[in-house]
Amino acid sequence: MAVVAIVGGQWGDEGKGKVIDLLAEKARMVARFSGGDNAGHTVINPYGEFKLHLVPSGIFSPQVTCIIGNGVVINPASLLKEIDDLQNHGVDTSHLVISDRAHLIMPYHTLLDGLEEERRKQKALGTTRRGIGPAFSDKVARLGIRAGDLLNKDIFLSHLKSALEFKNAILTKVYQVSPLSLEEIYEQYCHYGERLAPFIRETSSIIHEALIKEWLILLEGAQGTLLDPDFGTYPYVTSSSPLAGAGAIGTGISPMAIDRVLGVFKAYITRVGGGPMPTELKDEVGKLIREKAHEYGATTGRPRRCGWFDAVAGRFSSQVNGFSDIALTHLDIYDSFSSIKICTAYEFNGRTLNYFPSDSSILGKCQPIYEELPGWQESTAEIRDFGKLPPQARRYMARLEELLSCRISLVSIGPRREQMIQVRSIL
Ligand code: GDP
Repeated sequence: MAVVAIVGGQWGDEGKGKVIDLLAEKARMVARFSGGDNAGHTVINPYGEFKLHLVPSGIFSPQVTCIIGNGVVINPASLLKEIDDLQNHGVDTSHLVISDRAHLIMPYHTLLDGLEEERRKQKALGTTRRGIGPAFSDKVARLGIRAGDLLNKDIFLSHLKSALEFKNAILTKVYQVSPLSLEEIYEQYCHYGERLAPFIRETSSIIHEALIKEWLILLEGAQGTLLDPDFGTYPYVTSSSPLAGAGAIGTGISPMAIDRVLGVFKAYITRVGGGPMPTELKDEVGKLIREKAHEYGATTGRPRRCGWFDAVAGRFSSQVNGFSDIALTHLDIYDSFSSIKICTAYEFNGRTLNYFPSDSSILGKCQPIYEELPGWQESTAEIRDFGKLPPQARRYMARLEELLSCRISLVSIGPRREQMIQVRSIL
């Protein structure tokens, strides 16, 4: 079997949850490797419709060990709510495992996330204000508290005391707001710890056992490549790496253990929050895409910015991840379009740029250069065979494959699990 990393190729919300839910039917392990409950993977299957923020999308397949890896930051309250919600829908969660190395989101992280966004005023990053950035900052600053700490109340109290002393100084002296109570947080998190204890384990050894047994393992990414802190549109990025390479670090396996890297792309592009987006459509076409695809954030409900497929960004994404295959989602959204544009290069200051600039202020001034292809103007929603897709749709995909130098192996033509065409096996 194989290890497959599944990664967002754009600015997130590409439909990774749906792809993972489907592939998990054949897998034995799904391990989420980055982000926090700022991610929202929508899964629609026979159990109902779910927005998973932390629990891996493989949870619906009982044979799959679902791991929340060390690279994830966990808000215990959100995780417990998600577990309760799944259980109330009859989903078995006993095969969920949480890495003892995963860092926790604490009440001061959420509070500071909001205060920092307000301080930035017009330059706000558009974070979900769920404390993800501050929690990752503390991880690197060696001030973090990890899931494993909840298993030992003395250790937890000592870590909490030192972190809170520092955080309360910032809250009171910099932001002039009230300090947080040590006792309240301690009590609350001890309660969370008791509930989460059965799930918390050393997970890298569990994954290694699965590697030895040659199980099919899926590494579940969150957000998308263009939000990567190094390669994304800095500073309008997320705070942990959504790239395939992070799949190794965020779970504790060797990069050489990853056999395939599946990049998930929408047939168009969307973005939530601030930052440059060269192909954004602020006109009726953008509105049409938003309404047809219900492009409103799974976590925040915010309307997503919509635009034509950006192949400059896509090529860059393919390069930094080394995609072996692409899953193209939302092809059905174009069903009624008479023509479709693809951005193949940018124009900046009278020059043609064929690469994705690292400077967001330059990217913000790039004008897309488009190529126009004919639409197909028929429904693809019930098609299950690649050969039966309209020739214009196949031509559109062939052009994307050419521009991204990567083959499209899966095509999604609707939100439901069965609305997927397998062009070739990715394994
Ligand atoms: P993720 O975070 O990458 O899993 O993506 P989200 O769940 O945030 O957003 C994807 C949205 O698109 C969800 O509402 C899915 O149900 C929906 N979706 C996924 N694939 C398709 C598709 O091929 N066509 C349509 N119309 N919707 C899709």
